[in-house]
Amino acid sequence: MTAQCALAVDLGGTKIEAALVDTDGVLLAGSRFRAPTGRESSSEQLAASAASVVEQALAQLPAGGELVGVGIGSAGPITVATGLVSPLNLPSWRDYPLRDQIAALVADVPVILRMDGECITLAEHWIGAGQGERNLMGMVVSTGIGGGLILGGTAVAGPTGNAGHIGHVEVGGFDEPCLCGGTGCVEAVASGPHTTEWARKQGWAGTTGEELAVSYAAGDEIAVAAVKRSGRAIGQAIASATALVDLDLVAIGGGFSHVTPDLIDFIREAIAKRGAFPFVAKVRVIPSALSGDGPLIGAAALIHRSDIVS
Ligand SMILES: [Zn+2]
Repeated sequence: MTAQCALAVDLGGTKIEAALVDTDGVLLAGSRFRAPTGRESSSEQLAASAASVVEQALAQLPAGGELVGVGIGSAGPITVATGLVSPLNLPSWRDYPLRDQIAALVADVPVILRMDGECITLAEHWIGAGQGERNLMGMVVSTGIGGGLILGGTAVAGPTGNAGHIGHVEVGGFDEPCLCGGTGCVEAVASGPHTTEWARKQGWAGTTGEELAVSYAAGDEIAVAAVKRSGRAIGQAIASATALVDLDLVAIGGGFSHVTPDLIDFIREAIAKRGAFPFVAKVRVIPSALSGDGPLIGAAALIHRSDIVS
């Protein structure tokens, strides 16, 4: 039997990973490799990290296995037509030709680049919380806030590949400046680091999202207010996105989404305020069903589920 494998690559602000993924969305044992990225890395260091994880993962292709393509998920922004990446948190890569660098390392197979948020959404649709859904947003609430869209059963990349940048939807009543130039972008309000920063300004003594989770569970007033505030902002952003594209379901993952199970309730409360518009209030918000493999499975979906990738 020939195992058809996709090489999946996930580029983020702190690490780049690669793995081989089969047609059921399962990572081949021992094929997952990780190397550091980070704000301080030079372009050469980042390129060396990318090459090393790709080469190590490819070396795990089993005897009789066939590499059918390469899917790359990258932190945004990207330029899909030319295969360039400019991750906000990796300043030394601006319009870096990541797709071509990786294509040069593999045999003659398709190499597809998309935003990481689109990959997460494909993974939810393929094996996660969004199976069978035709109008879905996958969302990550972590160091940043990202997302991706499946509309009418098709993953929507947009002309540049950046559709689904939910983190840079501005939310009413908030005025935090955002790195993108916006004001009150939901990422600048409700990401993990921005939530803890707000709490500290109110007098909370902790630093990390994990500490905020402990304080929240203990009923600390500032921690509760901080989480409620971020939930409200995320809910407003989801309501706005639903008003625009008529979503049925939003699946939320990412480290900070686990700060408390109550976060989802605060998000739902903010959406319920739009009750005069049943088509907005109907959107269901649920936790992601993906494991830590989600970003890599989603990158592999660019190959194995190419039927729904536009
Ligand atoms: Zn922004």
